[in-house]
Amino acid sequence: MDTSSALSLDQAYELMLKHHGHQGWWPAESDFEMCVGAILTQNTSWTQVVKALDQLRCNQCLAPNAMHAVDEATLAQWIRPAGYFRLKARRLKAFVGVLIETFSGDLVAMLEGETSVVRERLLAIHGIGPETADSMLLYAGNHPVFVVDAYTRRIFSRHGWCSEHESYQSLQDLCHEKLGCSCCDEKVSRVEFWKDYHAQLVRIGKEFCRPRQPRCQACPLGALIG
Ligand code: SF4
Repeated sequence: MDTSSALSLDQAYELMLKHHGHQGWWPAESDFEMCVGAILTQNTSWTQVVKALDQLRCNQCLAPNAMHAVDEATLAQWIRPAGYFRLKARRLKAFVGVLIETFSGDLVAMLEGETSVVRERLLAIHGIGPETADSMLLYAGNHPVFVVDAYTRRIFSRHGWCSEHESYQSLQDLCHEKLGCSCCDEKVSRVEFWKDYHAQLVRIGKEFCRPRQPRCQACPLGALIG
């Protein structure tokens, strides 16, 4: 990526922010709920995740000890709306198992430390891949990592900022390199900037940059197309 493309990434944020305003992500009432949502949202829409979270809330299961205590089959039924419910129940139980058994249920302790060390800690848990781990790191742990997802890849590749098949790591490296904070280089500002940048991309991906027939004319990023 050249300097002009890096400028485009900054311009893209300005355009998205102007159009949608700050997104205030991640939508969750607690950091634990955020992490649960990050696992539930794998391969499903957020609308379905909200239904599953509501069921967990109704059953007083949105707390580490409660989720650790419930049996996997019951948990699976509660999160059924999120799809792949048996698989996701196993993943939630694996996550909460490490949280309770290694960190006494203290999520702050689990997410505390050198970013690369905490990332490896999360990736070692069954069912947690790079996107899920990085979401937890950024939104619950306030670590400076950029979250890459299918929307990021689609939007960036359609603008020529990366290739269509760019790997997760390479796209994340690119974002880390090119998307410093626009106002200063302090870690806190960068974390807040990346939280909102990812949220803005998700919104653009949902509303305009669909897999087929992107709505470029109505999209805030239309001005940056070729
Ligand atoms: S819809 Fe068009 S303008 Fe908007 S992000 Fe996708 S490719 Fe860019």
